[in-house]
Amino acid sequence: MKSSSIKFIITLILISASTENGAHANNTEQQPWTILIHEYMNRVNIISWKLKNQAAGLCTRTSTDIGISTDNREAYQSKLWKQLYATVHMGEMPQVVSVAPDSPAARAGIQIGDNIAAIDGVPIAKIKANTPDPALLSDALLDQFSKVPEGHTISISVIRGTGTRDLKVTAQRVCAGKAIVETTGGLDLQSDARNVAIGTDTIAGMHNDDELALLLGHEYGHVIDHHRDLHNVTAIRQQEEQADLLGMALAKCAGYDVGRGLQFWVRFRERPFGWIFSDPTHGSVKDRIARMRAALPAVQCPLSRYADGTLPAAQIGYSRPTDE
Ligand SMILES: [Zn+2]
Repeated sequence: MKSSSIKFIITLILISASTENGAHANNTEQQPWTILIHEYMNRVNIISWKLKNQAAGLCTRTSTDIGISTDNREAYQSKLWKQLYATVHMGEMPQVVSVAPDSPAARAGIQIGDNIAAIDGVPIAKIKANTPDPALLSDALLDQFSKVPEGHTISISVIRGTGTRDLKVTAQRVCAGKAIVETTGGLDLQSDARNVAIGTDTIAGMHNDDELALLLGHEYGHVIDHHRDLHNVTAIRQQEEQADLLGMALAKCAGYDVGRGLQFWVRFRERPFGWIFSDPTHGSVKDRIARMRAALPAVQCPLSRYADGTLPAAQIGYSRPTDE
């Protein structure tokens, strides 16, 4: 996934600070890692679906989607496959690990744990054989769903228990942009112009979905505004501030508690020896928290662009950057 190295290094530091505080232990408990990863994927998919729906009036780039997230064993080392089957019954077929509420997949009756046997009559083995890198099969399925013509119905055959069901799913148009959970672990949180990637260790550092929604909202803010890799510190900071405000507005309109979500930033700010990590491109954390808190009451839902193309966050001291 493409991302500026600066952005990557900074988010890395940011998240490590959050996990140092023992946040990790709150969420992991004694779950097998397979169940935990699928839970993370489920949370990220549901939050992303809600954020993308709130962003519907803002996106200039859209695609179709059905609202599910899948996982497949080729994304893991083969020595782990036995364990994947033993704990989550994931075998040769990709498995549905999330169905967003009110999504086309939910309306069609797709359920978590369903194993996908065929799409539009094409067996999954054939789809897999046509996927250049089988480790990215789930990603390829999302791409396939994103290219279904709007309103077109696809047939997904799933195996649930011992039975097979053919479920008809009508694709819906939403903001383009996938949320990818990096199952190899790591503290990653980044976006390129199209997608958002988040590492499992980053998710582990979040105390609740309000915090996770605020972070994912920030990254979707970059995607929606087509932010680019910049090398000028002032311009990078401007983009970051805009992503903060747009992400906050998306999270608020999607029903998340922004005040509660900001607690992550408060923890980050209060970390020991925090001054060591002072960060010229993202601005002071204190200022970022204050700006988001001040702007919160002005956010009006649903969000939509003004006739001149500017984003609604103009209400909250935000304007779209002019291209250099
Ligand atoms: Zn950012």
